[in-house]
Amino acid sequence: MIAAHSFDGRKVAVFGLGGSGLATARALAEGGAAVTAWDDNPDSVARAGAAGIATADLRAHDWTGTAALVLSPGVPLTHPRPHWSVALAHAAGAEVIGDVEIFCRERRRLAPDAPFVAITGTNGKSTTTALIAHVLAAAGRDAQMGGNIGRPVLSLAPPAAARCHVVECSSYQIDLAPSLDPSAGVLLNISPDHLDRHGTMDDYAAIKARLVEGSAVAIVGTDDARSAAVADRLQAAGRTVRRIATRTPPADGLFADGDTLLEIAGGRRTPLASLAGIGALRGRHNAQNALAALAACLACGLSADAVQAGFASFPGLAHRMEQVARRGRVLFVNDSKATNADAAAPALSSFERIYWIAGGLPKQGGIDGLARFWPRIARAYLVGEAAPAFAATLGGAVPYEIAGTIEAAVARAAADAAADPAAEPVVLLSPACASFDQFRNFEVRGEAFRAAVTALDDITVIGG
Ligand code: ADP
Repeated sequence: MIAAHSFDGRKVAVFGLGGSGLATARALAEGGAAVTAWDDNPDSVARAGAAGIATADLRAHDWTGTAALVLSPGVPLTHPRPHWSVALAHAAGAEVIGDVEIFCRERRRLAPDAPFVAITGTNGKSTTTALIAHVLAAAGRDAQMGGNIGRPVLSLAPPAAARCHVVECSSYQIDLAPSLDPSAGVLLNISPDHLDRHGTMDDYAAIKARLVEGSAVAIVGTDDARSAAVADRLQAAGRTVRRIATRTPPADGLFADGDTLLEIAGGRRTPLASLAGIGALRGRHNAQNALAALAACLACGLSADAVQAGFASFPGLAHRMEQVARRGRVLFVNDSKATNADAAAPALSSFERIYWIAGGLPKQGGIDGLARFWPRIARAYLVGEAAPAFAATLGGAVPYEIAGTIEAAVARAAADAAADPAAEPVVLLSPACASFDQFRNFEVRGEAFRAAVTALDDITVIGG
């Protein structure tokens, strides 16, 4: 745990007592702050009380002299309207921050030169964060991974000169971290998402950009126009910018030419790493993630060879184009995290011959936007509430059947794929739908797929 001394002897209010709120309250109390914590959920309040945290309804609280309100990232700061605790904090003159801001202050106090990699973007944050932490650890570094992925940042080991912190930041967390100053910041991409919370697309893009504006080295994906504009602006301001691209080669920066990751500088192209044969990093989207990881790990002082070795042993993340098993030539891939059509596109673009399991609770727009992938789909197996609508969209363009459940779909798809003479037929769960009609969440759905696959005869489990 990181004892947060930056509020020693001062009053701090904490609202939101999920995992990160609990860790924050503990870290502040350990550092000498007078903490009062609250949550709208009585169970969370009871759990915090049992853990020795002082709780009280902040509506009836004496805010006089309160230095800060620490907000959980899920609680609205501005949109659609500020949470009531934010209004009370402003009225009392208290700053409103999040746990990542406290981490930044502690790092400046304890080890301002320690490597600190922060990662944001609309898509690929978790994969890139996990990949960076994996490569650093594989190279023998003490890598502490947290933030929006896995552990709350204040529950990690404290900043120290030889320790790297790798922190995934959602836009909510950036919004609550006004002094965010990573040694290497990654902005992967910007596309419409979470506009309910941030108002306009411009507001959303501005918040994402803040992560790299505060970075000593700004690593920016230039495949989309908004992120490219951020790179241009920082470069014009004289900042250190590392451009990463998978579409148009930058004049200066890192570029993925197919599987080869190149450095382009002064008109020269130098191959630094290759993704050939690395199953967990297939696809153009993962080339973007790998370029970001390469740039970040080079900025932390690793050699390109060390990065290559780390890439080769990366297991990938569960439920994101996760290679689950093989059965002869057939590969089984779990992409349960793809809960809308946009999220399913990377997986559909990464394989040539697909037996596609799709459906669940339909999202607006359905799968109309995926028509460019129809030639890759040998057959579709439709499940859940979306099945009739998806069937109507596929029409005569793609053979399909209504399988109903994941179990039935796996059995049917496995049999059909086994009879396909292609070099590597792929049975792919990439539902393009939420899971809630049949499952508690996308993780449970992915586990159901895995269970159905591993129950097949003659299966070889990957990484198991
Ligand atoms: P996040 O943490 O930003 O939600 P993840 O790493 O969990 O992202 O990946 C979620 C899904 O987003 C993946 O299954 C894949 O479909 C897609 N994805 C991953 N990386 C990228 C990327 N760089 N660009 C576009 N889509 C991506």
